[in-house]
Amino acid sequence: MHKVRYEESYAEAAQVLRMVVPAMAEHRASPNPVNYAVWYAHLAGKSPELSAELEARLRGGGFDDALGRELYLRHLADRDERTVAELRTALAAVVRQVTRLLSEAGDEAGRRSAALADIARRVAGAGEPGSLQELIREAAEESRGMAEMGTRLESRLHEATSEVEALRRELERVREEARTDPLTGIANRKALETALAEAVAAGAPFALVMADIDHFKRINDTHGHLMGDRVLRFLAGLLRQRAPEGALPARYGGEEFALVLPGHDLAAARAVAEGLRRALAAGRVRSVRSGEEIGRITMSLGVAQWVPGESAEELVARADAALYRAKEGGRNRVEAAAPPDQAA
Ligand code: GH3
Ligand code: MG
Ligand code: MG
Repeated sequence: MHKVRYEESYAEAAQVLRMVVPAMAEHRASPNPVNYAVWYAHLAGKSPELSAELEARLRGGGFDDALGRELYLRHLADRDERTVAELRTALAAVVRQVTRLLSEAGDEAGRRSAALADIARRVAGAGEPGSLQELIREAAEESRGMAEMGTRLESRLHEATSEVEALRRELERVREEARTDPLTGIANRKALETALAEAVAAGAPFALVMADIDHFKRINDTHGHLMGDRVLRFLAGLLRQRAPEGALPARYGGEEFALVLPGHDLAAARAVAEGLRRALAAGRVRSVRSGEEIGRITMSLGVAQWVPGESAEELVARADAALYRAKEGGRNRVEAAAPPDQAA
């Protein structure tokens, strides 16, 4: 099924490709990935809004990189990418403003110092006290202008600095949001995958725990979805509290969680998992509204130790298989994965 779709889309993609290149050449679009994505989406009929806008703009003028970028961001980029691009544009605008400000200030300083030099020359040749007084007034005027310019420049540079700082914080917030699970506030799957890829690339020993709440559907069915959410947050809190230094607790999806444990071998990771299992089983979650305490909540866990040469996906699959065995074995338990060569 998947394969057939791939074959179809490959043929389709090749066919679109044959149209994209001549069309881009015809409109003198520079062959960069952004422009390519835009023309591909247009000719493959991926976005009617993009096509309508592109066609209107082509009628009104030509195609250029700025238009390509604009269409890409509006119709093809995802939200995070768009936000980052907007921030980058804002930052570039601030930098341009400051550059203009400095060059204007430079011009003004040049003009004023030329005027002062001229005054100095005239002072040397001045005879009467009257004209000297006039020159002193002029010199004072230029100096005051110079000082005011300095103050103005300073306050505007100060403003620009705080704008840049605000943009930097905003960028940091967007980055953080992109790697956080909104319900529980712990790392999301994307962040987990990044951490696993980094751990694999680093090559230092580490282990992975995968956990899945037992009969979670029943909790939702009996106590409502909001209570289910509360249980998820409770477990996330537990993971955060009990995660050893340097470990990354993450929500893998739904009611599945993961814990990356740097420097842990299988036995050490198993002990951490066992501690978590006990803590959840001993915990009590209450409904905020009714104050009613819901029955014991348990989870099943699978633990795997990474072996050099193993990919992140293989490690996750082994931990998952161990988790599955914990479910099969009666739930509320920890199972350790066999090394890859021994696994079926
Ligand atoms: P098992 O012991 O085999 O793991 O059974 P289970 O009921 O936990 O597993 P199952 O996969 O059948 O059900 C998982 C349920 O988790 C189904 C889904 O509605 C619920 N769920 C997934 N994400 C959320 C969420 O964000 N909030 C709430 N409240 N429920 C969720
Ligand atoms: Mg599940
Ligand atoms: Mg479950």
